[in-house]
Amino acid sequence: MTQDWNDRTTLVHAGARRSQYGEVAEAIYLTQGFVYPTCEAAEQRFVELGEDEFIYARYGNPTVAAFEDRIAALEGAEAAFATASGMAAVNGALFSMLKAGDHIVSSRALFGSCLYIVEVLLPRFGVEVTFVDGTDIDQWREAVRDDTKLVFFETMSNPVLEVIDVAAVSEIAHAKGAMVVADNVFATPILMRAFDLGVDVVIYSATKHIDGQGRCLGGVVLGSEDYIRGTLEPYLKHTGGALSPFNAWVMLNGLTTLDLRVRAQAATAARLADTLADHPAVTRVIYPGRPDHPQHAVAARQMQTGGTMLAFELADKATAFRVLNALKVAIISNNLGDARSIATHPATTTHQRLDAETRTELGITDGTVRFSVGLEDAADLEADLLAALDHA
Ligand SMILES: *Cc1c(COP(=O)(O)O)cnc(C)c1O
Repeated sequence: MTQDWNDRTTLVHAGARRSQYGEVAEAIYLTQGFVYPTCEAAEQRFVELGEDEFIYARYGNPTVAAFEDRIAALEGAEAAFATASGMAAVNGALFSMLKAGDHIVSSRALFGSCLYIVEVLLPRFGVEVTFVDGTDIDQWREAVRDDTKLVFFETMSNPVLEVIDVAAVSEIAHAKGAMVVADNVFATPILMRAFDLGVDVVIYSATKHIDGQGRCLGGVVLGSEDYIRGTLEPYLKHTGGALSPFNAWVMLNGLTTLDLRVRAQAATAARLADTLADHPAVTRVIYPGRPDHPQHAVAARQMQTGGTMLAFELADKATAFRVLNALKVAIISNNLGDARSIATHPATTTHQRLDAETRTELGITDGTVRFSVGLEDAADLEADLLAALDHA
């Protein structure tokens, strides 16, 4: 269904389905099911779904399909399946493909819930997991075996923004016949084209940049027609991780402005990263767009800009708390990709569950601050951060 449109056109128009009323804004089909004109029609639909035919909202819904089509068109994916949350997408992508006895390789630097699935749940069902330092290509090369089913990583990790060399890892995996499954939430579909770099299955939490205004949970898995229809859909259809039509409508409209928002947020992030780096209270700034980021070269190769997220180090927990508590524009919360700038102290919130040793391994200290750059005026954010840093 992919048209020959550039991104911004795709994001405004792709996937729209107009009813007989010719509404301008996409309709919300807030319905669990669908009426069949006859028993024969119902029978036929259960045998084989035609284009734009639906049975039950757990399987599919017109508003959800519009969202799936729009993001698939943006990514250049053959197909997409939308889910109730980002974690339903991660869970669906991994569990639909794996069975007891399989081996996978995963980057260690993962979002807490992703880590729980890979480290706790998959082994409970007999899947063998080898963890690697995702930034070390030699570790991937050593860990991927002839019988490895898939590799999994976040293209840019949460919260310390380690950047995976996606093309290099994909090449290693494909040489052994393993699938490449990537969570591309931090990089966004605007700044990184994961499929072009070799990824087979791309996952998003739509809760983040795609909604972009902190309203709804949602997620999506993108891949080949074969994988989505043959492997993922049967799993998700029968286990219930479907996206609600209302949330799909919110996400569909989020996509309309995604390109503009992400580029504006990334431009501000680059400016704030430089401001923070010049401040004496900040011992380290982590921003993939800066030359002092350890994977800057990789980021420059595979991403259009350094992204909308940054992290920085303050002396300790007390300092981090004082600075964050003094912010007047940015809010303290744990979402990201939002129009509002959001400051997070990972060690005491999103990554609290991990023991101190694991946190250290992941590069999270008591002074680490994660900062999701919003849509506010860059000068106001800069002034806010500088004023807050006076409390360091
Ligand atoms: C937030 C997040 C998820 C989970 O998404 P939800 O919509 O909260 O379920 C998965 N991966 C990454 C990298 C995230 O930031």
